[in-house]
Amino acid sequence: MRVMAQMSMVMNLDKCIGCHTCSVTCKQAWTNRTGVEYVWFNNVETRPGQGYPRTYQDQEKWQGGWVRTRRGRLRLRAGNRLKNLLTIFSSPKMPSLQQYYEPWTYDYETLTSAPAQQDTPVARPKSLISGKDMRISWSANWDDDLGGGPRLVADDPILAKLEKDVLLSFESTFMFYLPRICEHCLNPSCAASCPSGAVYKRAEDGIVLVDQDGCKGWRKCVTGCPYKKIYFNHRTGKAEKCTFCFPRIEVGLPTVCSETCVGRLRYIGLVLYDADRVLDAASVEDEHDLLEAQRQVFLDPNDPEVVREAERAGIPRDWVEAAQRSPIHALINRFRVALPLHPEYRTMPMVWYIPPLSPVVDAVSSTGVDAEDPRNLFAAIDTLRIPVEYLAELFTAGDTAPVTAVLQRLAAMRSYMRDINLGRDPDASIPASVG
Ligand code: SF4
Ligand code: SF4
Repeated sequence: MRVMAQMSMVMNLDKCIGCHTCSVTCKQAWTNRTGVEYVWFNNVETRPGQGYPRTYQDQEKWQGGWVRTRRGRLRLRAGNRLKNLLTIFSSPKMPSLQQYYEPWTYDYETLTSAPAQQDTPVARPKSLISGKDMRISWSANWDDDLGGGPRLVADDPILAKLEKDVLLSFESTFMFYLPRICEHCLNPSCAASCPSGAVYKRAEDGIVLVDQDGCKGWRKCVTGCPYKKIYFNHRTGKAEKCTFCFPRIEVGLPTVCSETCVGRLRYIGLVLYDADRVLDAASVEDEHDLLEAQRQVFLDPNDPEVVREAERAGIPRDWVEAAQRSPIHALINRFRVALPLHPEYRTMPMVWYIPPLSPVVDAVSSTGVDAEDPRNLFAAIDTLRIPVEYLAELFTAGDTAPVTAVLQRLAAMRSYMRDINLGRDPDASIPASVG
């Protein structure tokens, strides 16, 4: 066992209201500079939607992340450090500026100068870059306004894959928000694809950073990151990324996004993991086993043997105690309610998500039964407003069983807490039924 410590985050998606406070405060703190105007270290995506940058999930196109070879090894789609060194002058596969963000405004002229007519004039959105009509274009969170219509189904790769006709009807539309930062992966493909070796993972807390002096601006890391969470600064010619607010973390402060989150949905903390298990876990054959394999990499910080090995590895005692106090291990391994984003990229991401349970009411209200009772939810899990298949494509490489288990556990917790808050005896059979 080789114990290492890692900073990580769990976000509870049921609580995100899409207010973008996290994105704006992060931008004010870190990317309010020339050359990175288009950059959002923290962004909040509309789901369903194309994501930011647009279509980033299509790794055939962008060549991000790792693939498992037939011999059971991991290979970078983008090419490893040596290959990229030999091909440093070939173009990296990068989204265009428009795919990151197309700032827009309204054509207010039509409001003020339209002649008197029967209908109220409408201010149409237009691009600030090209001036073109944005109704046929795209911008961040543009998907909100598409309301689950046919175009959204065609644009969202997951919806298109699921081919659910039912999603086309307005009664069945759904949406939720997905806040994203760099995953500070245990097996970061950005670092492995950098020809200059400028991207590195800090040994003490696993935060992934770019050495600004070492970066030569090849941008192979942008290609290599499957989450497209490393960016090119057009002014300095260097790569930049989320730093997990390390200058704040080092003095005991939370990240800016966590501190300012209106929904209080971001849990941050240290986890201990076995570094010897990372590559084996990342290269398991079946994509559906990646979730459990990554869970197995994390170590119980209260296990005396883990504590001993952590001390032997030079991890300070107060860090181990911080890991014991942190909710991260409990959310991932004990309560098993948190899931990683796109584990099939095999980078072992360290930002995990509690998937959205709501609205469950919709699923069972027509029966007249208590929609908050998890036993009803169990019966209606296939008819949840947010399809389990959609969540599974995001968090478990398409395997619906772990997502269903998480939703059932969340419903049981909600029911339990409701009973407590109402001064009733909780139904003991509910926790037992979900494990
Ligand atoms: Fe690197 Fe972050 Fe991308 Fe992971 S998510 S590959 S750590 S930039
Ligand atoms: Fe969601 Fe919190 Fe960001 Fe608001 S501040 S968008 S609630 S993650």
